[in-house]
Amino acid sequence: VFEYAPAPESRDIANLKPHYRPFIDGEFADGSGEPLKSINPATEEVLAEVSTASASDVDTAVKAARRAYDRVWRKMPGAERAKYLFRIARLIQERARELAVLESLDNGKPIKESRDADIPTAAAHFFYHAGWADKLDYAGYGPDPKPLGVAGQIIPWNFPLLMLAWKIAPALATGNTVVLKPAETTPLTALVFAEICQQAGLPPGVVNILPGAGDIGAEIVNHAGIDKIAFTGSTDVGKLIQRSVAGTPKKLTLELGGKAANVVFADAPLDQAVEGIVNGIFFNQGHVCCAGSRLLAEESIVDELLAKLRYRVSTLRLGDPLDKNTDIGAINSAEQLTKIRELVESGDSEGAQRWTSPCPVPERGFFFAPTVFSDVHQSMRIAREEIFGPVLSVLTFRTPDEAVTKANNTPYGLSAGIWTEKGSRILWMANQLRAGVVWANTFNRFDPAAPFGGYQESGFGREGGRTGLEAYLDV
Ligand code: NAD
Repeated sequence: VFEYAPAPESRDIANLKPHYRPFIDGEFADGSGEPLKSINPATEEVLAEVSTASASDVDTAVKAARRAYDRVWRKMPGAERAKYLFRIARLIQERARELAVLESLDNGKPIKESRDADIPTAAAHFFYHAGWADKLDYAGYGPDPKPLGVAGQIIPWNFPLLMLAWKIAPALATGNTVVLKPAETTPLTALVFAEICQQAGLPPGVVNILPGAGDIGAEIVNHAGIDKIAFTGSTDVGKLIQRSVAGTPKKLTLELGGKAANVVFADAPLDQAVEGIVNGIFFNQGHVCCAGSRLLAEESIVDELLAKLRYRVSTLRLGDPLDKNTDIGAINSAEQLTKIRELVESGDSEGAQRWTSPCPVPERGFFFAPTVFSDVHQSMRIAREEIFGPVLSVLTFRTPDEAVTKANNTPYGLSAGIWTEKGSRILWMANQLRAGVVWANTFNRFDPAAPFGGYQESGFGREGGRTGLEAYLDV
């Protein structure tokens, strides 16, 4: 009979001091890399000092993951693995408040988003995949589907805990072990997650978490003991990784950037569309790979739509991420703020019309007011490049064919939105759009059961649903 390790005494959240150190083979270790400082982007103050991993820590972690894979995890019946995943999901729920506050402090996102979206969705991913762990046998993969081995997983800073859940839950459910690197600006919730693994009694080595910069990501990618790489991040780094993996037997999935079109037809319920447009581009300060960063509006309604949109955007509150009334928090880093400003200036110089929300902007911290560009042409940088900030580019179209051509005029292909009353048009458009996810009369809806991933330079492979499991199995 299998039993969980007993949970530690319940802990006082206010006095909790997580170990901001690499988590290797079930223990927090003093990393031998350069320590890094995690900055609170809303105050520019140091939030935590984090000990980071070195190349030799990567080697130790990969070997621990291999031992755990060979000796424990791959041999454990799926029904037993499921218990650990359920336990992790419950512990995320139990520690939701602490995780939400820490996520907002470290990332800058509004507390209402970390509280209502990031943390519950992360728990939901573990619940969903716990449900799969004991159902893989004969689910179309034969009696005993084979995991791949040790997965190296590298994630970005925009949804730190949620991206971790997208990576770790399917890997563990299918019997793989994991070495994961969080982004350098947002390592904190990943290290609380490491504590949760300890609390859940997860066998040592099954999950290893290595804070560090891109060079540590590259060490993981290039380590000979890694069987699969799952990367979420920029298209540039994704291409580098693809080159490093070429010529090796490592399996690879890439979730990269996007420049999604949100297409609004004249017959759409405009007030509802405005809510979807606002959510599409201003949720999480626009730091979303599938953000609806290009609005394609039917020419006959563009003026009315823009008037409604500007009014609605001017009601959004920008400021302290920990204030539960805040709609727009801080930009995650000074570097990202510079990138956003540079692209916005290119919009000005290329002749687009800039409108900025009149909301007050705090003097301290990395903040950027919601911005809407109209009179945007397809050749402009703000129509082509991922801004990854609260900046919307508005283009127009006259016919459905023109809408499809413009929506598809991008090297990316992660997501798209359609707003119309006509069901037949939704079905037709969804087929024409080259995007992994197409939402109709809604935007940014997620479910662990729905596969997510891109076309073209948005990457390949899917996360979520049954398709997502196959990325971790030798089918
Ligand atoms: P990034 O590519 O700069 O960094 C992502 C991760 O890769 C970080 O952990 C970083 O340390 C690591 N890294 C950097 N250089 C590396 C290297 N040479 N080898 C291995 N790892 C390396 O991206 P970012 O700025 O953190 O994130 C923003 C990007 O992520 C955007 O382009 C966004 O669209 C994309 N994104 C995509 C999805 C998706 O599901 N498609 C989800 C979220 C974010």
